[in-house]
Amino acid sequence: MAFQVDKRGFYGPYGGAYIPEMLHQNIDYLQRNYLEIINSEDFIKEMDALLKDYIGRPTPLYFAKRLSQKYGYKIYLKREDLCHTGAHKVNNTIGQILLAKRLGKTRIIAETGAGQHGVATATVCALMDMKCIVYMGEVDIERQAPNVKRMRMLGAEVRPATSGSKTLKDATNEAMRDWISHPDDTHYIIGSVVGPHPFPDMVARFQSIISKEIRWQLQEKEGRENPDYVIACVGGGSNAAGAFYHFLDEKDVHLVAVEAAGHGVNSGMSAATTILGKPGVLHGSKTLFMQTLDGQVVEPHSISAGLDYPGIGPIHAWLFESGRAQFMSATDQEALDSVMELSRLEGIIPALESAHALAKLKELNAPSDSIVIVNLSGRGDKDLDTYIREFKNL
Ligand SMILES: *Cc1c(COP(=O)(O)O)cnc(C)c1O
Repeated sequence: MAFQVDKRGFYGPYGGAYIPEMLHQNIDYLQRNYLEIINSEDFIKEMDALLKDYIGRPTPLYFAKRLSQKYGYKIYLKREDLCHTGAHKVNNTIGQILLAKRLGKTRIIAETGAGQHGVATATVCALMDMKCIVYMGEVDIERQAPNVKRMRMLGAEVRPATSGSKTLKDATNEAMRDWISHPDDTHYIIGSVVGPHPFPDMVARFQSIISKEIRWQLQEKEGRENPDYVIACVGGGSNAAGAFYHFLDEKDVHLVAVEAAGHGVNSGMSAATTILGKPGVLHGSKTLFMQTLDGQVVEPHSISAGLDYPGIGPIHAWLFESGRAQFMSATDQEALDSVMELSRLEGIIPALESAHALAKLKELNAPSDSIVIVNLSGRGDKDLDTYIREFKNL
């Protein structure tokens, strides 16, 4: 079975490009040229230099000794939290800004929910001297004030989306509308493995540096390239896609994707897409997302803003349906418990998103001494307000 995208932009039945007529030319051009551009010698050279000196790669593969003692596995943390800006998202925005430059674009748009992707986009726009406009729901602008300030410090314009629920999906609609009216000078930087083909594949390739590094780092430390397990959290699915990428065809590597169960899968307050979602077209591709009987998007809930997304990328819909990856979910409370656990056992305060992946260590039921990699997608600084509110004894 194939788990990579096919020539038409599909993963099994999922993916494709369901877009308005006005975007055909842009998307079509991207589809025909993205591989040649991002595989060119000069692109790879510039990308590698920035990954090294700007983002700080390779990120360490850290053997978590005390966590390992507790669970009885050899647990390694892939330290994406140590990337510049504090999470994996910048691996993708760096790649896309270099692409935009080669497409001759001068203006970048993005949409953001929690503001993390907005900050990663504003960062690379400052770096490359590009005009940057970030669409954000009015409600999210209020909820995520520090990230709005960060984006403005970096020179980006934050435009409020004032329609509908005034959250991420409305910001996405605004960004699409903008792109339709500025198809010539503008590139839309999508922040996860979602959107019309070729975005899911392109983002997965930019994030695949994660599993590429894991392979040689594990070879150095354990004398083998393949771990027994790779665990990652899934919002749209980009850090998981990057952590799984070079293991997709390695049948002996068990892939575990962890979604946000919020207050509980059946509470009506969750983001557990594979359990609650149905197939449909979201954000330009066919995938699984949480919807009403007549196909309207259901507002998700998670304590972690980065997992608060109603769908998953088409690659994950296929990894789920084909059985290649195991999907689990963690509640808000489980994630919080894991935040404290990692802080106390390893001296690392993780992002709430990453803590969802950590929370499933207790349910792996793997043979002892299995090598387990947890992708630590981000650091906890951005979540400090939540931690202060939730951990009453601090
Ligand atoms: C945005 C974010 C996520 C979720 O996005 P994916 O595309 O699923 O990776 C996970 N962790 C952190 C730290 C994030 O900022």
